[in-house]
Order: sequence, then structure tokens, then C-alpha cells
Amino acid sequence: MVNGIRKKAFLCEKYVSGKSMDQVMADYGLTSVVKLGSNENMYAPYPNALKAMRDQIDMVNIYPERDYIRLKELLATKFGVAGPEWISLGHGAGNVLDSVAKTLLEEGDEVIVPEQSYRLYPEISKIMGAKVVEVPLDATYTISLKAFAKAMNDKTKIVWLCNPNNPTGTVVSKEDFDWFVDQMPQNCWLVVDEAYAEFADEGALPDVVSYIKAGKQVIDIRTFSKYYGLAGQRIGYLIADPDFINWYDTVSEPFNSNRLGLAAACALLEQDAEECERCKALMVNDRERMNKELEAIGCVPVHSDANFVFFEMPYDAVEVSESLLRRGVIVRPCAGWGYRRHMRVSIGTTEQNNEFLKQIRAVF
Ligand code: PMP
Repeated sequence: MVNGIRKKAFLCEKYVSGKSMDQVMADYGLTSVVKLGSNENMYAPYPNALKAMRDQIDMVNIYPERDYIRLKELLATKFGVAGPEWISLGHGAGNVLDSVAKTLLEEGDEVIVPEQSYRLYPEISKIMGAKVVEVPLDATYTISLKAFAKAMNDKTKIVWLCNPNNPTGTVVSKEDFDWFVDQMPQNCWLVVDEAYAEFADEGALPDVVSYIKAGKQVIDIRTFSKYYGLAGQRIGYLIADPDFINWYDTVSEPFNSNRLGLAAACALLEQDAEECERCKALMVNDRERMNKELEAIGCVPVHSDANFVFFEMPYDAVEVSESLLRRGVIVRPCAGWGYRRHMRVSIGTTEQNNEFLKQIRAVF
């Protein structure tokens, strides 16, 4: 038993999250911190979502509605699929990714992952006994579907695609996506993680759902954690062919979404849509402004379609991050992805973004 556990654990790298705000304040003797390390939405929670959660708080002793029909119906309408049988949920996109891996992968399968991307894809694939083939990004920090196609073979069961990509914020083009879908071997599924899709420029992303509706082996994974500002409530979802949803629902655990989060998600779609868009416009505006200001101090930003900026700097990014931490700003250095001079910084409120810019100028 113990040996079995250790064998599985050795396959994986433990996820170590950044320090919490309380921890940073205690460690550095600060009274406030600006947290821009985990791509959260700092304008949220939005008003109707908050009210919907408050209305549910005295019902937390009761399991949530079993099939989450209300939220699925709202999502089905939003994405133009025939009904709730095209949607399923999980506690965060991370849990959805894991359940998709469980649904599809068997010992001996292969998967393709971008080498510099969300680190869950290789871990959940290895746990299922799959061989992980890592493909580096191209020179523009973009996932290369041409390189993915070269790495594919008849054993490839999943291609994990992060679009926009975390940590680089880059997107694959519609043309490349369209070409790639037709290259996939018969048993292969293209799983597109669109956690940051709502922040992408108009027309920048392929319409993933249209491929699903056309019967291609494509799955779309999304989340309420980023654009909708509900990271603490853990609501993610997938859109896929009803047959796949049926297998997914068989494999994933029952009651994998929580009562408060479900109520908030419905309120976000039905009542907070305008507020979500208003705040997104502020974030997108600041994204472009931050990149310009970073450029002015000698950094090389990459165009981002997500709620974070990614840039190269003339210094060691781990050291700069440490200095920023001492000044009360939490960011994400990208050394873990092999980028020693690169940093990923979430777009916070304008005030928080200005504080980051002020402090990075001071550190430089
Ligand atoms: N996919 C990507 C690309 C992410 O960056 C994250 C979280 N940072 C997730 C999935 C997981 O999101 P969730 O909070 O919905 O589990």
C-alpha cells in the first residue's frame, strides 16, 4: 500500500503555491500587500454574486442540487449548444482537467503538453500512467501546433492546449487550430483549457465550441475563477459532446460543485454580466498600459490575451521578485518554466497595478 502511494507520488512534482498575503505581511513586517501572483480578479466579488452566496449561507448543511441544471442551462444558452447535456461541472477547472484525464487516459497512452504551460497537465497525465511528451514553445512564446503535430502518433490520446497560454498569455491562431484538428489521429482528443479566454482580444481565439458541435473530438474547459472573480468558490466547467459528458459524469465524483459557488455562478451570468464586462475593460486597458510602462524601463513584454502580463527583464527575475515581496508586492517569477529573466504579473485594480509599477521602478 505504502509503496504504491510512494510510486505514484514520485511521478509528480508537488504543487507549491505562493505565500499567502498574511504570511508575506508577517514575514516582512508589512501592514498591506498587493497580490498579483495567481491571476485572480481583484475587482470581484461582484455584487449579485455576493448576494446570491449570502442567500444560500444558511443552507450549507444541505447538498447542492444534484445535477446543477440551472447553471448548465444558462451555460448551454450562452454557448449555443442544444441543452445541459453538453455541459458538466467540477470544483474549479483544475478538477475538471483531472476528471477529463481520468475519463480518457489508460496505462500506455501518450499525451502532448506544451513545455511552458499550466503545470497540472503533465501531473494528472502521469498519475493515469500516460507517457508525457513535452513540446517547447516557439520563439514568440507561443504553442506551436505544427510541432505538436510532429510529436503525435497513434498512441496519442490527449493533446492539452492552454489557450491563452499560462504563463505567456499567447494564443494559437484560428488557422493553425483549424489545420490541427484535421491532423489528429482517430483516438485522440484535443482538450482546450480556456481559463483566460474572456480576456482575449476580439476574434483572437478559435471558436472551440463550433468544433465540438461539428462532431470533432474537442473538449472546452473553462472556469469562474478568473473573469468572473470566483476563485475561492471553485467552479469550473466543460463543454463537450453529450456522449463524452456522460462518461465524464460517470468518472467524476458526485456533488463536485458547492452550493454557494453554484448560486454565485448563476447570478454572475444572469445579473452581473455588465459589471463583469466593465471591469474586464479596465483590466484590458491596464494590461496594455502596464506593457508600455514596462517597456519604458527596459523590459520586453509579450502581447498578452489574458489577465496577466508576461515580460523579460534585464535582471534575474527571482531576485527582483524577492525585492518586490519585501516591498509588499507578490508576483510570479518564471524560473520554474526555464525563464530566468521573465516574470508573470496579474492585472489587479488600477491602484494595485500602479503600486506594482512604482515598486518595480524602485527595485530597478
Ligand atoms: N487552467 C489554467 C491555465 C490556469 O491558469 C488555472 C489556474 N491558475 C486553472 C486552469 C485552474 O483554475 P481553477 O481555479 O478553475 O481550478
